[in-house]
Amino acid sequence: MTKDLSILIPLYNEEESLPELCAWIDKVVRGMGIQYEILLVDDGSTDGSWKTIQALWEQYSVIRAYRFGRNYGKSAALDLAFSNCHGKVVITMDADLQDSPDEIPKLYKKIVDDGYDLISGWKQKRYDPISKTIPSKLFNKVTSIFSGIKLHDFNCGLKAYNGKVVKTIHLYGEMHRYIPMIAKQNGFRKIGEVVVEHRARKYGVTKFGLERFIFGFLDLLTISFVSKFKRRPMHFFGSLGTLSFFLGFAITIWLIYEKLYNQRHHLRVRDVVDQPLFFLSLVAIVVGVQLFLAGFLGEILANQGRKEDYIINEVI
Ligand code: UDP
Ligand code: MG
Repeated sequence: MTKDLSILIPLYNEEESLPELCAWIDKVVRGMGIQYEILLVDDGSTDGSWKTIQALWEQYSVIRAYRFGRNYGKSAALDLAFSNCHGKVVITMDADLQDSPDEIPKLYKKIVDDGYDLISGWKQKRYDPISKTIPSKLFNKVTSIFSGIKLHDFNCGLKAYNGKVVKTIHLYGEMHRYIPMIAKQNGFRKIGEVVVEHRARKYGVTKFGLERFIFGFLDLLTISFVSKFKRRPMHFFGSLGTLSFFLGFAITIWLIYEKLYNQRHHLRVRDVVDQPLFFLSLVAIVVGVQLFLAGFLGEILANQGRKEDYIINEVI
């Protein structure tokens, strides 16, 4: 059954926040007079979150909830929610009350009335420790340059989507930080942002430490790389391999030519193993063949059982 709005909430050990959060969402969205659902994904909490969710489920008929067997991470929780929601508009938010449910009507309007594919929240004024805000500025700058998307706050948990968009987004690892980038790669270009209220964490603790910057950066590389070459690894490995092979080949020719020339003109002839260039050409040829082979194998693997998720805009 389709709904007007799905609200997706990934959570990990947030038992204290949940009752307040659900009551607040219900109050705000009920006033909008639309059909909606709340999807809670318990990402393997070890506190009483699931018990709390069960009680809330009895209380609110709009709630559906999933519970992972262990902690898979925020991306996995969002991925599950994306596949299982039925809203024409989808809003994601964090469970810790740092995102305010009061923003929901504004975000909803942006998608429905202004026709945006994706609207990202922008926590212009943030209530987080400085160890988080400064690296985050850097992260946003780099991602913005890399992706060509002008957003100030890629990783804001509060986002709104056209329901079609989330069905094309498959997340794993820590890729939730790059959702706007993935949406753009999937052909959804109308991406905007609105300033949203941010609040200090009231209960519980943050679930992300400093390692997120390293993992986050690696994910950025994966996303840019995989989207480009996932279906055609030969273009990447093959071109590098060919380049390397021909470099080695050219050096070999040069070495042979030089030797013959010197012999002919009775100049001093050096042993081939006495020349650095020889080793360089050897390495270049071997590496070139290896890269080429990697591309070839990659191509076979990538196209096995191939079924492309083409996004079709219209059929008449
Ligand atoms: N979260 C999750 N799985 C995890 C880590 C976090 O579902 O492994 C949820 C968490 O419960 C919260 C949201 O993701 O609802 C954002 O996490 P957090 O508030 O810790 O991040 P921060 O605001 O500190 O960036
Ligand atoms: Mg938070």
